Amino acid sequence: MQLEINGLSKTYSNGVRALQHVSLTIKQGMFGLLGPNGAGKSSLMRTISTLQEADSGSIRLTGLPSGDELNVLTQKDAVRRVLGYLPQEFGVYPRVTAEAMLDHIASLKGIANGSERKELVQGLLQKVNLYDVRKKNLGTYSGGMKQRFGIAQALIGSPRLIIVDEPTAGLDPAERNRFHNLLAEIGENTIVILSTHIVEDVTNLCSDMAIICLGEVVATGNPNELVKDLNGKIWQKSVEKAEIETYRQSHRIISTQLKGGKTRLHAYSDVPLTDFDSVAPDLEDVYFAKISEGTVVGARSEE
Ligand code: ADP
Repeated sequence: MQLEINGLSKTYSNGVRALQHVSLTIKQGMFGLLGPNGAGKSSLMRTISTLQEADSGSIRLTGLPSGDELNVLTQKDAVRRVLGYLPQEFGVYPRVTAEAMLDHIASLKGIANGSERKELVQGLLQKVNLYDVRKKNLGTYSGGMKQRFGIAQALIGSPRLIIVDEPTAGLDPAERNRFHNLLAEIGENTIVILSTHIVEDVTNLCSDMAIICLGEVVATGNPNELVKDLNGKIWQKSVEKAEIETYRQSHRIISTQLKGGKTRLHAYSDVPLTDFDSVAPDLEDVYFAKISEGTVVGARSEE
């Protein structure tokens, strides 16, 4: 099974070119779509989820178990039957229990048989570890519990393609970890596309990824391979805040990070930089190096 996106473009009526000739091949497993805010991730996710039209290009879902192939842009109903979508903001009805809500969504998705639905809902609640709180109103759930509920509803109907848009914003580390494990489990026999601006989410979870910036794909590949390509090219130096601008003028600074009151610069260079130390690259360096080819310079989070 494979999702093939070819030359996809979208310009909004206000003139913003949100997607520019995006081409990607996404295989089974967890695929990370990484990009800064405004990169076009949601536009792409909404288009794949049949919620939005593209101006040009194509998206095909091939190798379905039925042997079928779907044109995602035109066969919307058929795509929706194999799609699970977990949007950025998952609105829940606060006064409804998780169990009742899942039952309701399952009947909306066409599972008419009551006992079949009950079995499905109980199984899903166990899978996402909400069984013990199934009779509590959704309004009482923590951020992490709401996200896991979101996954449960996205899994109704055994989707082949699951789209998860910016899932871990607002989750504490333990909740995030639980959420990651759940996604990794699901990713084994479906296509899961995880859209995020958090590099660590992709590092931990994805065997394949793309970076998009200003509507364009700027890198694709296996995260470890992309990191390896930067070996020997990332250099670091601690400087005073006031010096940053001077270094920016003379070096290709890809990120800055405040550490112990000083600012640590990461610079990209094929040759050694005087007064800089060589540093082993990580996926954040890949990300910042790729997006700084545009105009953005990244700020690593403080340590
Ligand atoms: P991301 O999900 O990576 O933050 P988006 O796809 O939401 O990126 O947005 C990409 C660009 O398109 C941004 O500049 C955003 O302001 C613009 N945009 C998104 N949705 C709309 C819309 N409905 N109308 C006009 N501009 C939009």
